[in-house]
Amino acid sequence: MAPGTPLLCRLGLHKWGRKRGYNEYASNVVEWEQRCERCGKRKHWIETKKGRRSSGRNL
Ligand SMILES: [Zn+2]
Repeated sequence: MAPGTPLLCRLGLHKWGRKRGYNEYASNVVEWEQRCERCGKRKHWIETKKGRRSSGRNL
């Protein structure tokens, strides 16, 4: 890790900023990205869209 990393970040307590989502209509997942305002570390995860099924399971 970089020497200038703030203490809290070194402890894993990042200051996560605004969450950004990438929603692709063609898929049933949303990609999220969030960035630490102190050290710039990014985290990235994928969530499954819930509640909206594109085709006919309940018909
Ligand atoms: Zn951080």
